[in-house]
Amino acid sequence: MTTAFRLENTFARDLEGLFVPSAGEPAPDPQVVVLNTTLATELGLDPDAVGTRAGAEVLTGARAPEGSTPIAMAYAGHQFGGYQPLLGDGRALLLGELIDTDGNRRDLHLKGSGATRFSRGGDGRAALGPMLREYLISEAMHALGIPTTRALAVTATGEAVQRDAQEPGAVLARVAASHIRVGTFEFAVRQRDPLARLADYAIARHYPQLVDSEPAEKYVRFFDAVVDRQAHLVAQWMSVGFIHGVLNTDNTTISGETIDYGPCAFLDAHDPATVFSSIDINGRYAYGAQPVIIGWNLSRFAETLIPLVAAARGDDVQSAVQALTAVLETYLDRYSTAHHRLLRAKIGVPEHPAADQLADDLLALMTEHRADHTATFRALADELRGDPAALNAVIPRESSAAWVARWRELPAGDPVQVAAAMDAVNPIYIPRNHLVDAALTAATAGDLQPFNDLLAALTRPFDADPALSAYAAAAPPEFADRFQTFCGT
Ligand code: AMP
Ligand code: MG
Repeated sequence: MTTAFRLENTFARDLEGLFVPSAGEPAPDPQVVVLNTTLATELGLDPDAVGTRAGAEVLTGARAPEGSTPIAMAYAGHQFGGYQPLLGDGRALLLGELIDTDGNRRDLHLKGSGATRFSRGGDGRAALGPMLREYLISEAMHALGIPTTRALAVTATGEAVQRDAQEPGAVLARVAASHIRVGTFEFAVRQRDPLARLADYAIARHYPQLVDSEPAEKYVRFFDAVVDRQAHLVAQWMSVGFIHGVLNTDNTTISGETIDYGPCAFLDAHDPATVFSSIDINGRYAYGAQPVIIGWNLSRFAETLIPLVAAARGDDVQSAVQALTAVLETYLDRYSTAHHRLLRAKIGVPEHPAADQLADDLLALMTEHRADHTATFRALADELRGDPAALNAVIPRESSAAWVARWRELPAGDPVQVAAAMDAVNPIYIPRNHLVDAALTAATAGDLQPFNDLLAALTRPFDADPALSAYAAAAPPEFADRFQTFCGT
């Protein structure tokens, strides 16, 4: 049955020096806890075969599919601003690549599969709660239309892992366009030869339109393309109130997908200073800091490309630095343009000289009144339909009236149609922290119903359903005030 997974291994074939062959550890009693059958089918896998005992063994890493070459990827990275020369997959394996039904190459990767060469002091394991958390939030992000790694399955190992207490061990099977990160380049740049191979591999896999660019421009264009994807990605995070929580350079992908759901969380009250992660003492990765931090990570990426660009320009380092800097300097504008385009859609106004200031002023009002991010945008559509109650519930009318008057003055279309278009971009269901917490607590104790119910709501985030009203409500203040997240080990 392991032939159900027909894996290719181009990373292992082409990028010697950037990984070590590795194997998962045995799992005493592997059981698939959640399986994403839609995604399995999209990947050309047979969900029934994947759900068998042998499938569960593959999904924990205990059994390698025939012909596969599991590897632990090497990478470096800046963690909270400090350079770490060697991180790497300390509790993960790249099993290989699958070609999906659209012909796209996608990594199949296991997180929590056991110790590797890169584990340092860690146990190489993962606990069920954090793996289900990544499953839930990454699938919610996908349903919101945000580029992300996907969750294929969470499989319990049948073994306990020691965290604050003993917890059930589990492995997340995750699918990504690739797992190449800024940190992969930071690792490769120290070894000139793999750097060029890595860049050419990443270009062929993620930016094939650049493969035939002339050498002097190719790596600058590559940088430009990554800058563009990251600018759009962080704009999407900001638009839905997503806080990644640990935006180290090893958690910034070259493909432009969101990766590594550890201490991430969604905002309740809109406030740029919001931090949930227990270890982010200085707020480096606060909600409102994310656009600047992604820019910082992109500068670390640019630095790794200097040798390649310089070599293609007759060893002219200065020309390389200038060309890469010129691209980097466009980043914040690209972010801001992308963010404002999303905000205009969220408030239902077309491009207009007054529109972007209007959107910024709304965010300022939301901050001032600690308005619920998700509920406020959703309330604006109700306002257009003639129902002021929802907006009044988040911002007092005496404070919102002037803004609403300016908003209503801007040219729009038929209010009913505009409101429907707004509802199609403003989610009503997001992974609210109190709901995620309750679902994971129940799941860890053996009851998967709350998890499955929440997952179902998050999979259709824009479609209001009166039966699901509890999922749209903000957390009780006593919960929101003390909520913290932890790095998902
Ligand atoms: P993350 O916070 O998941 O991005 O991980 C940061 C680094 O720590 C990566 O190199 C991981 O492989 C490593 N790591 C995290 N948790 C563990 C663990 N339980 N055992 C070994 N390594 C780990
Ligand atoms: Mg990581």
